[in-house]
Amino acid sequence: MNFLIATHNMKKRDELSRILGPLGINVVTAEQAGLTLTEAEETGTTFEENAYIKAKSGCEESNMPCIADDSGLMVDALSGAPGVYSARFSGEHGNDEANIDKLLSLLSGVPEEKRTARFKSAVCCVFPNGDIVSADGVCEGRIGFERRGKGGFGYDPVFMVGDRSFSQLSSEEKDSVSHRGKALAALAAKLEAYLKNKDI
Ligand code: IMP
Repeated sequence: MNFLIATHNMKKRDELSRILGPLGINVVTAEQAGLTLTEAEETGTTFEENAYIKAKSGCEESNMPCIADDSGLMVDALSGAPGVYSARFSGEHGNDEANIDKLLSLLSGVPEEKRTARFKSAVCCVFPNGDIVSADGVCEGRIGFERRGKGGFGYDPVFMVGDRSFSQLSSEEKDSVSHRGKALAALAAKLEAYLKNKDI
């Protein structure tokens, strides 16, 4: 069975395919399915709600089981911000550089021990019959004082796990500790059980 991945973020899409493939979940992108998905409006107030909104919209447009992720960064010194607004923290959706600039400037003067933060990822799969399988994952870390490393996307250059940023980890290293890696591993296990039960 093929699962459609609903995301317009290419880097995130690569992560989803890269993690789910080896777990036995056969994923196809909208392009591979010959579809152009409309961008679902993320009107939810939680990661879980937004992941569901995106997966449901992709499922309805494709008539395929559709997997979506909604994720973001929660910084303790900012009372959990940017949270569901992570992608549009600076005002412009998806401007990673401006988002990081704003984060570093809000945290200027905040000492290392108070820069604790976590990434959260909610993943959801919606089936054409309306069934829903979902999971989530968390990765604890802290916000560095400056950008480190070149890889990844979003807040990767300033999200520190131990003494390296997400940008400084290889793809495999990031997947093994990341919020999305954990959420997708849990989703894959739940999907396996679901598909067995359904005898699909
Ligand atoms: P979404 O596409 O609405 O889920 O937006 C998630 C936003 O959270 C992204 O645009 C990034 O700013 C941030 N984000 C989520 N996961 C990661 C990650 O693994 N690394 C860096 N930033 C992330």
